[in-house]
Amino acid sequence: MKCLRCNETNYFHTDEYGTYCRRCVVFSRININEKPKKCLLPKNQSKIKMKLPYELTPEQKQLSQSVLKNIQHHHCFIKAVCGAGKTEILLPIIEYYINKEKTVCIAIPRRQVVLELYERIKKIFYNLDIACVCEGHTRKTKAPLVICTTHQLHRYHQAFDLLIIDEVDAFPFKNNKTLQFIANNCCSAKKIWMSATINDEIQSKLLNENFKVFHLNKRYHNRKIPIPKIYYMPTILQLIFTLFFIIKYHHLTKLIFVPTISLCEKYSKLFGIFFNVFKFTSQSDNKDTLLSDLQAQTNKIIFTTTILERGITIPDATVMVLHSNHFIFETANLIQIAGRVDRNIMSYHAPIYFLSSKKMRKITDCIKQLEACNV
Ligand SMILES: [Zn+2]
Repeated sequence: MKCLRCNETNYFHTDEYGTYCRRCVVFSRININEKPKKCLLPKNQSKIKMKLPYELTPEQKQLSQSVLKNIQHHHCFIKAVCGAGKTEILLPIIEYYINKEKTVCIAIPRRQVVLELYERIKKIFYNLDIACVCEGHTRKTKAPLVICTTHQLHRYHQAFDLLIIDEVDAFPFKNNKTLQFIANNCCSAKKIWMSATINDEIQSKLLNENFKVFHLNKRYHNRKIPIPKIYYMPTILQLIFTLFFIIKYHHLTKLIFVPTISLCEKYSKLFGIFFNVFKFTSQSDNKDTLLSDLQAQTNKIIFTTTILERGITIPDATVMVLHSNHFIFETANLIQIAGRVDRNIMSYHAPIYFLSSKKMRKITDCIKQLEACNV
């Protein structure tokens, strides 16, 4: 017995309508040995041309062209540092595919990033029909270009000529064999994966599936990647340090990362006695509005979890990670968090602090990998 949608062989339930797969029933019911239906998407009728208020950098152009040349024969992996402009690299590729009447998907594990990317891309390709599909946005699901969360890929069996997955190493796509199998079956031709980091799991997939790897170690504004400073101290001193950090960098937005939602609640209450503090976690109400409010204002104090580690640009951000030794923070998380700083075209001095109660290899690995990008 096997589920043909997610490859499950064990986790089934039988009722009066047959035996169905419990692994992927969260998406919709599918009985064993039932073939998922091929999803047909409309093709684009008129030619599109990207409209950007700035030029791609020579590095972005070159990488984009190399990927386009190679994608005919290989799947491609783009390893680009945070702030390199991965979206810009994709634009000529999307334009090429859509103008060849092919269908394209950009899938991202995080919902907030999907919404933000959709807003950007619809302005760049103003005459292209795009479907933005994620929780709360499922009325329109079919278009030549789909931008969706990886959770929504179950709708698109064999639908795309090109499937781009950004942040392949992010939760919930990371280590999720069901989602990964479903994603593989969405694409009838080639895949592009992207991230700022490659972990062991991805490394072995790249080898097994014959991916060609491309690197971009330069940020779009050509400045070096800021390197975090590590300080080892017990919790009480970390809190005192945070107090000084907030006072000293009063003119910037302070993104303070903590490992859990309960610590986020606790610390935002504690510092809320002295300052006007925001908190942003997966349990926050009205996340979409709150995030756009936070991005629109400056000089804020935001306590948050890894939910804000990726894809989000806050123009005046400076960053601190409390309890960076906690198991929630892996090297890849720390690299992404550090990548929130100095994203603006205008340069500003903003430090990144990792506070930890003990020495951990994952923290020093993060520093080593970031330094290697600056060589
Ligand atoms: Zn299944």
